[in-house]
Amino acid sequence: MKRQLKIGHLYPKLLNIYGDGGNIITLKKRAEWRGVNVEVHEINSGDVWLGEHDIYFIGGGQDTQQIEVSYELNRHKEFMTAERDRGAVFLGICGGYQLLGHYYQPHEGDKLMGISLLDAYTVAGNKRFIGNVTVGQAMPDNSTLVGFENHSGLTYLQGETKPIGTVIVGNGNNGVDKTEGARFKNVFGTYMHGSFLPKNPKFADYLLELALGEKLEPLDDSIENSAHNALINKAY
Ligand code: GLN
Repeated sequence: MKRQLKIGHLYPKLLNIYGDGGNIITLKKRAEWRGVNVEVHEINSGDVWLGEHDIYFIGGGQDTQQIEVSYELNRHKEFMTAERDRGAVFLGICGGYQLLGHYYQPHEGDKLMGISLLDAYTVAGNKRFIGNVTVGQAMPDNSTLVGFENHSGLTYLQGETKPIGTVIVGNGNNGVDKTEGARFKNVFGTYMHGSFLPKNPKFADYLLELALGEKLEPLDDSIENSAHNALINKAY
């Protein structure tokens, strides 16, 4: 039986910098290569919501775009919390990741309230973290993840929300505690742009397997893995 997968792309008109849209392409193609029928719904400000999705993706952006997204997301906080609790998969990148936590306090202005799917909070730091990132002891198989970071936000994890790995190169959540990203239930966040999933195929398949509820047969990831390996331990 042809399997179905619904992906909700949240606020791509506002949060979609540094190629983050490539994560949607990766999820879609890797599912279709396994014979899964994929629907991608872009959900922008003011759109009527199309009900439940298997995976929600939200990309990164500047503080100004995050203001509108914070307001919009909080209109759907109850629904998104119920989606988390029924096991839907979420992936937030950088600015989108920050808004999956409790709040993001920018340098100026009020706190941007998040929707608390992750027990984490973010405050703007005094420097921008810009450069390549290598993460070790990382989900799903305790190996490495690679990407690119560009953020001033410092994110701190609490409670049952745990990092997706340990920073080897770069800064990660806050440049101090060596944590990168976050996970609680099937909600994931990371500061890694790049885009993130094309160069981390095992993580992409992990999200698909959580969303589909089944193990996926392996693909020939020789190109993806060479891109991954080219970035390992590379600072610039
Ligand atoms: N505006 C946020 C920060 O600077 C997020 C940036 C981003 O999404 N790249 O931390």
